[in-house]
Amino acid sequence: MKDHARPAAKRVARPAAPFPTEQVPSFADLPEHRQIMAQAAAGDQLGIDNPFFRSHAGAAGATTVVDGRELVNFASYDYLGMNRHPEVLAASKKAIDRYGISASASRLVAGERPIHGELEAKLASFYGVEAAIVFVSGYLTNVTAIGTLLGPEDLIIHDEFIHNSALTGAKLSGAHRRFFRHNDAEDLERVLRSVAGRHRRTLVLVEGVYSMDGDVADLRRLIELRARYGFWLMVDDAHALGVIGGTGRGTAEYHGCNPRDVDIWMGTLSKTTASCGGYVAGNEALVTLLKGHAGGFVYSVGLAPALAAAAWTSLDLIDREPERVTRMRANGRLFFDLARARGLDTGVSVGCSVIPVIVGDSMRAAQLCNDLLEAGINVMPIIHPAVPEGQARLRFFITAEHTPEQIEFAVSRTAEKLEALIARNFGVGSVDI
Ligand code: PMP
Repeated sequence: MKDHARPAAKRVARPAAPFPTEQVPSFADLPEHRQIMAQAAAGDQLGIDNPFFRSHAGAAGATTVVDGRELVNFASYDYLGMNRHPEVLAASKKAIDRYGISASASRLVAGERPIHGELEAKLASFYGVEAAIVFVSGYLTNVTAIGTLLGPEDLIIHDEFIHNSALTGAKLSGAHRRFFRHNDAEDLERVLRSVAGRHRRTLVLVEGVYSMDGDVADLRRLIELRARYGFWLMVDDAHALGVIGGTGRGTAEYHGCNPRDVDIWMGTLSKTTASCGGYVAGNEALVTLLKGHAGGFVYSVGLAPALAAAAWTSLDLIDREPERVTRMRANGRLFFDLARARGLDTGVSVGCSVIPVIVGDSMRAAQLCNDLLEAGINVMPIIHPAVPEGQARLRFFITAEHTPEQIEFAVSRTAEKLEALIARNFGVGSVDI
């Protein structure tokens, strides 16, 4: 095992004289930096506070504290309320006492802690597949898993709304890339037909519950296509684990499919399981391969034992306290029904954990976020380029911890404040931030 790829001895021509420092490119002049500054200036002009990076006191749950004010919170992925569950906290504290705070090095170097294997076994059995592997971040999991399995001779076909981590993994893998229209199996089949037989391996990449839209992948159709066209199917179940399916087992259970018909289940530990990290679950060979070759596993520190213990306990609690899943889903349905009754545009969401309220213009979304903050509600805007132009939205994360009163309050304030903005024509033709 090599820790660093040693560059082949190659001669680097040295300049006769050192470069003058004026030639060092300035970060401030990069187009990406300029774009951020222009967005901030446009917001300032309209008197909109920057909604991002606000400081919150304490843990985020159904409520959160900003500037000393308690707000009803719709900006936490803690779908089942595990983040402050006494058993989750106790398990983490016990793991810290036993193992310290860090795994200290890669698991190949520092060795295993029993909780790593226990968590992987639990994830595998939760999914109903042979094996699982955990990584230190969900984002890293997508990047390193996709990059390990595919290369320049291969093809990745992804949903157009796939998460940035999967897209980045696909780009960095060097594989050819095509996309298909969002959650549209017919369009995927069109792409599959057009590329048949041209590549060594093909991966089709989808999300279980889509993080920006809250709709569910058409898994049955995808599995049928997999049987016909022979591709690997990878499902990012980050927002589905613990959320959909009768017992919270995610997208396969939701659709009544066999989880083994999906080649690569991927997800994060940062949402329902109230921890940090990511995982891949699938067959033994896949997990063995990733444990031996995925750079983000081999060359990165092992998951902190306390985080592994938190995730293990949260998974255990999903089964022991199934009412959390039921409550979260009832809350999602309540928000969804009330929002639609008030004429809010919830897009294609099925009304579970992620419910967008689509408002169109980015400035309107940012202003609505500000107005709701004043009214006592914390919810984040999603603006271009995270979503297409004209599709800016507020994204509500619904949890088991919300009360029906909090949900009713949030929906009615959102409808009122949005109506007021529309009446003022706010955001029509304004600069897209
Ligand atoms: N996949 C999806 C669908 C996500 O929404 C996210 C993050 N929100 C990730 C992967 C990355 O997970 P993490 O934040 O745990 O790194």
